Amino acid sequence: MVRVSGGDLNVVNLAQLARVHDRGEPRRGSQQQEMDLLADAALAIRAGVIVAVGPTAEIEREWGDPKVATLDGRGKTMMPGLVECHSHPIFAGERHGEYAERLAGASLAEVAARGGGIWSSVVASRAATSEELAGRLDVAYRRISAGGVTTLEVKSGYGLTVTEELRQLQLLAASRARTPLQLVITFLGAHVVPRDLPSASVGESVGDTYTSLIIDEMLPAVVAQGVAQFQDVTVEDGLFTPAQARALMAAGRTVGLASRVHADAWRPSQGWSTAVAAGAVSAEHLTYTPDDEIRTVGRADTVAVLLPVAELVYLTDRRANARLFVDHDVPVAIATDYCSSIHATSLLATMAMAAPWFRLTPAEVVVGATLNAAYSLGAQGRCGSIDLGKQGDLVLLDCPHPNELFLAPSAPLVEAVIVAGDVVHRSPSLDAARLH
Ligand SMILES: [Zn+2]
Repeated sequence: MVRVSGGDLNVVNLAQLARVHDRGEPRRGSQQQEMDLLADAALAIRAGVIVAVGPTAEIEREWGDPKVATLDGRGKTMMPGLVECHSHPIFAGERHGEYAERLAGASLAEVAARGGGIWSSVVASRAATSEELAGRLDVAYRRISAGGVTTLEVKSGYGLTVTEELRQLQLLAASRARTPLQLVITFLGAHVVPRDLPSASVGESVGDTYTSLIIDEMLPAVVAQGVAQFQDVTVEDGLFTPAQARALMAAGRTVGLASRVHADAWRPSQGWSTAVAAGAVSAEHLTYTPDDEIRTVGRADTVAVLLPVAELVYLTDRRANARLFVDHDVPVAIATDYCSSIHATSLLATMAMAAPWFRLTPAEVVVGATLNAAYSLGAQGRCGSIDLGKQGDLVLLDCPHPNELFLAPSAPLVEAVIVAGDVVHRSPSLDAARLH
C-alpha cells in the first residue's frame, strides 16, 4: 500500500544524498563532474516543497515531527527524481519483426520498402482508438515511473495530420490525470515526411509541401489547442533539410514554441549546427555529428541529449562523441528515447549503460539525467536538483553510493519514487518499517 503523506515527508539517515545543486544554469565542462554528495544526510519536505537539507542530526532536531511520515534511508542513496527528456510514448502497432530482420542483416531501406519504420507506426496509430492509445500510454508511464523518473517529456508525432496530431496531444494532456509523472508535452509534426501526401507541385519537394503544411496549418492549430510546450523538428538527411528546419523553428518561435531537434541520428546532416544557430533548447541523438562540427560550434547553450539505447538498437557504427561535447562546454543530458522501436523504460538502466557507452563519469551521467535534462525542458525551477524551494521529487536507490548503480546496469535498485513529497511508487523490497 502506498502511503500518501499529503506532501509532508522527512527522509533521514541516508548513506549518500546526491544533491546536484542548481547554480542557476545547466552544468557544463568540469562542472558536470560533480553531483554534490552529502553523507549521513536528511531532508524535509512540507506541502510538496523541499524546505531543509542537511545532516540527519540537524534535520531531526529542527524538523522532526511524529505527525510527519518519515522514510529511513539507512544504507541507501537518494538523488533528484530522474528527468526523462526524450520519449515518444503514444503509438500503436508492433515493430519487433523489423528489428529481428535488421539483426538478421536487412538494411533500413529494405525494412522501409517492406512497410516498416516509423511510417508503420503512423499508420497503426491513426487506426487505433483513443482508448487503445491511452491504455498503452498508461503501461509505459507505470514502467517509466518505476524506473525512477518523476518528470517525463512526451512527444506526439505518430499522427502527422492536423487532426491526428491534435488527437495525440489531447490524449497526452488528458493522461496527466492518470499518472504522478510530471509531463512536459512536445509537438513533433516534423517527425518524418508522410508517405501519403499528394504529390508536390512543380519545383517543390514533398518535404517542402509538408513543411508548409506544418507552418500554415498544424502550428496555428497546436497553439490554439494550448497543450504543447515545445516543437520538435527533425534535421536528417532524407527527412528535413537544415533550411526546412530553420523555417519550422522560426515559425515556432513566432507563436511562442521553443524548439527541440532530432539531429544526426543516421548520417551527418548539419543537425547540431542548425539547432544551435536557431537557439534550440536541445538537440538529440547527435550520433553522427562530425567532430569538426562540434569543434566549430564550440560552447553552446543548446543541451546535447544523448541516447545510448537508440544507438544500440539502431545498430549504428558510431557513437555520439560525448567527451568532445563536454570538452567544448556543452551541457550533456542522457535519455532513453522510448518510442515505437525502442521500448527502454528504465532511465536508471540507461544511465548505467551511458557511462561505459560514452566514457562518461558517473557524476556526468547523474547530472545529465537530472539537472541538465530539467534545463532542457525549462523545468529547472521545479525539478532536477535537491535544492530548497524545489518540488520534493526524489528517487531512493538500494545502494550505499550512487556510483554503485553503474556496476548494476539491470538491477532493480529503485526502492521508492517520490513526487511532491508523496511516495508514488515503492518496491516490494522496501522494508515496511522504513516508512512510518
Ligand atoms: Zn526521438
